[in-house]
Amino acid sequence: MLEDVMVDDVAELVASLNFAEKVERSRQLIRLALEEYGSGLVVANSLGKDSVAVWHLAKSVSADIGGFIVTTRYKPPETVQFMREEVARYPELRVFRNDVEIPDNLHQTDPDRCCDLLKVEPTRRAIEQMNVTCWVTGLRCTEGRTRTDFKEVEERDPGLIKLNPILIWHEREVWQYLALHQVPVNPLYAQGYRSLGCAPCTRITLGADERAGRWIGTSKCGGECGIHTRPLKAVAQGR
Ligand code: SF4
Repeated sequence: MLEDVMVDDVAELVASLNFAEKVERSRQLIRLALEEYGSGLVVANSLGKDSVAVWHLAKSVSADIGGFIVTTRYKPPETVQFMREEVARYPELRVFRNDVEIPDNLHQTDPDRCCDLLKVEPTRRAIEQMNVTCWVTGLRCTEGRTRTDFKEVEERDPGLIKLNPILIWHEREVWQYLALHQVPVNPLYAQGYRSLGCAPCTRITLGADERAGRWIGTSKCGGECGIHTRPLKAVAQGR
């Protein structure tokens, strides 16, 4: 059972497990969740390095696991091309986006609203349409200032489990895994980006905080788009 391997102090795991032990723990979490949730277990793939690592891990547990990508009109061309390549490699990846009309500069005037419309809404739709009961993400607790209090298994929405199987991995360990398994990555990383998002809201930065290049100049700087903090299932059911 998934709950049998749960721990309260993930910081202890971050520091005490070596790379191979972390990989084995991640696979075990996915395996146990798959036993509990079956086809309701679905991977959210944002096309960043953490997502492609989780996707690769999940497929190594079971080739039958499905996934979805949420994209927006503002994704850089490199990400759009990488998405096409990922979907060609894995046709079971379903793509969701919201083409609703919005003001041109909404990402500057109200980035929370922009993310809510372009990212959170299609995520809710993916969860609803794919009958997801356990969604799997590439969230890591060492990634930035907003990601330190997440758990490996969460239930922020009633009836919707969120599994974060690489929560305890360091950035270096993600790259170690991707290199060892020769997993293709978004070409933007070769330009120096460390965290990827929409073009107007993502910059190359230096420094310790991996997500510092996100939403620079706004109150969201280094923050979250909302898919990990906003209700997902409850709103979808209440529509
Ligand atoms: S990252 Fe920027 S452009 Fe993309 S949805 Fe959020 S605010 Fe809008």
